[in-house]
Amino acid sequence: MSVAANVASIKERIAAAVRRAGRSPDDITLMAVSKTQPPERIREAYNAGVRLFGENRVQEVAGKFDALRDLRDAEWHMIGHLQTNKAANTAELFRAVDSVDSLKLAEKLDAAARALGKRLDVLIEINIGGEPAKSGVAPDSPALDELLVAAPRLQALVFRGLMMVPPFTDDPEGARPYFRKLRELRDMIASRKPPAVAMDQLSMGMSHDFEIAIEEGSTCVRVGTAIFGERARG
Ligand SMILES: *Cc1c(COP(=O)(O)O)cnc(C)c1O
Repeated sequence: MSVAANVASIKERIAAAVRRAGRSPDDITLMAVSKTQPPERIREAYNAGVRLFGENRVQEVAGKFDALRDLRDAEWHMIGHLQTNKAANTAELFRAVDSVDSLKLAEKLDAAARALGKRLDVLIEINIGGEPAKSGVAPDSPALDELLVAAPRLQALVFRGLMMVPPFTDDPEGARPYFRKLRELRDMIASRKPPAVAMDQLSMGMSHDFEIAIEEGSTCVRVGTAIFGERARG
């Protein structure tokens, strides 16, 4: 299948899930996760109407962004775990960081964005399944509170919501309770109205389970394989 055909089919599946959930199609954005993909493939997704792209390695993107510089309204988000020493490059290259998982990283991104005179949208990544091998802050951790409390002084960062990768289950239904938990956590945080924190975005759902994520309240689904095919390993 071509990238264009895959994008069309995913958009249909998103629309169907939106209808089932009684939600508005405007509430869900499709992000194409273009990590490991060459610029030509990314351009195909753009030509098929995708405007939001996710990448997970700073080292990988500089060359790609150069090759795709003409796609002016394409928006790039960092979705991978970030070492603090990559914060400056990330702030320069990306529009948003969807994988903020520590106060230290948030502070570095804020300082870097300030120096560049720009604002960065951020999501807090939650390790909802409590998996030791995954990044993200635990839902009930001091690390999450620290980030929320720091938001007013991190003025170059715009806190928009939460992101997560659920524990893998063969049956996509296995992810549903985790999606629901993230939405409940979002609602709980939003109800406390923390200053300088918006909780309007929930980034959840990938190739395998995005329809379920939409039923559970996702506002952004991050789809890689189902658009571009299997990634080369290694
Ligand atoms: C790779 C990746 C995705 C996309 O995964 P697919 O299963 O290929 O759709 C989504 N989110 C994150 C954080 C990723 O690293």
